[in-house]
Amino acid sequence: MMHSLRIKLSLALIITSMSAVIVVGVVAQWRVSTRFDQMAMERSFENFQADVTAYIASYGSWNEAQQVERFGQFVRRRHMPTDTLSDEPFFAGPKSRIGPAGRRLTPPIPDEPEWAPPFLFILLDPQGKVLLGGGKYENGEFVPVSARLGASPVMLENQVLALAIPQGKPNLSAIDRNYLATIREALIYGFFIAGMLAIFLGFLLSKRLSSSLHELTMAIRAMNQGELRQKVTVHGKDETGILAEAFNRMSADLAHAYEELEESHRTISEQALLLKELSIRDELTQLYNRRYFNEQAIKLFAQMKRYNHSLSFMIGDIDHFKRINDRFSHATGDEVLKAVSGILKNSTRASDIVARYGGEEFVVIFPETPLMQAAAQCERLRKLIEGFPWSTIHPDLQVTMSMGLSDDLSLERFEHILAAADNNLYRAKADGRNRLCSAALEPECATL
Ligand code: GH3
Ligand code: MG
Ligand code: MG
Repeated sequence: MMHSLRIKLSLALIITSMSAVIVVGVVAQWRVSTRFDQMAMERSFENFQADVTAYIASYGSWNEAQQVERFGQFVRRRHMPTDTLSDEPFFAGPKSRIGPAGRRLTPPIPDEPEWAPPFLFILLDPQGKVLLGGGKYENGEFVPVSARLGASPVMLENQVLALAIPQGKPNLSAIDRNYLATIREALIYGFFIAGMLAIFLGFLLSKRLSSSLHELTMAIRAMNQGELRQKVTVHGKDETGILAEAFNRMSADLAHAYEELEESHRTISEQALLLKELSIRDELTQLYNRRYFNEQAIKLFAQMKRYNHSLSFMIGDIDHFKRINDRFSHATGDEVLKAVSGILKNSTRASDIVARYGGEEFVVIFPETPLMQAAAQCERLRKLIEGFPWSTIHPDLQVTMSMGLSDDLSLERFEHILAAADNNLYRAKADGRNRLCSAALEPECATL
């Protein structure tokens, strides 16, 4: 995938920041609610303790007080002197509603439609016997030690009068609930804003982080496809910047080294080609040399023989060449050799193989050519040599060539056909030169 790194980076950044936001939200919400519950309980306990101590102080002891008046009635009377008796278990109201001397600051609590007691307390004597029950414990029951662990002592003058155990969940006041709801709302807003910010910054940062790497990846891909010279943008001095710089340097070095390598490869190839040409060609005439000709001729002979095709072989020798050298100069002799080579090369087919075999001796192989056809071709060559305007080299110069031809593929080896052609050449020389001899032209050689 083209942008998979970017997607992964975005997701990583978004998941990390969203997790942090969720954890902060949950912890804050939990801390706020537990702190509110704790505060509500502490307030209720203070009220309850004040009521219990006042109750006991009024009648001497709990038991004596019970003979006279129930605790609930006492509390109601204490806070609302005109109220009627009640057998309800005691619910401690919020302290804020009661003045310092038990004076009512707000309307009677039970008249408030929304009011609910913040906490229900069970009161035990110091030995664990229930004095004021409610919920699962009835008056007079003993509360097991394990259940007494969370009990708070109700104190009077440094003496433990009783133990109070909070029961159930707290009921918060309307103000507290509003306050809590406002905090929750603020947290939810904060959560959404932080979430949106996390997503936005996640995309932005991942784009910034992955863009340099993306560019590098594309450049490496291009290098892989052969475009070695690449240049990526360097953003800053961080790791990606260092990487981009190093990549640019390496790409330039690699491209340079590759160009040099290609150049030297080109030179070597050219030199190898030149060397090969030099090794197979004759320096003076640029025709193939004897060694290369022999290699090719042996292969061709075997091939034509095997597939029963025809092949003709001609060996030609310039007549009285020694005299040319002697009479006109060695340089003129060289000019003659070059001119004869030109005629032979230019007047044969590309598939024919023409070579300088020795000093003034030339050979031609005519593949796929029967003797009579080759003889006609040789005759043409002989006439071309004879008719060449030799006077352009020297006014008195005249050059001819004698030729021997053979097509005998019944012979075992190439050397044998060479010997047969050479025999015919010898006969052509003997018969008076400037002629072509072959077995087919018996009894007389061509002297046209
Ligand atoms: P024939 O008609 O019987 O072939 O007589 P010829 O003189 O051509 O034969 P011969 O073999 O006696 O002489 C060949 C001469 O070719 C001898 C040699 O000096 C000369 N020759 C060989 N190679 C070169 C060369 O590269 N350049 C020149 N100028 N002469 C060469
Ligand atoms: Mg010769
Ligand atoms: Mg000769």
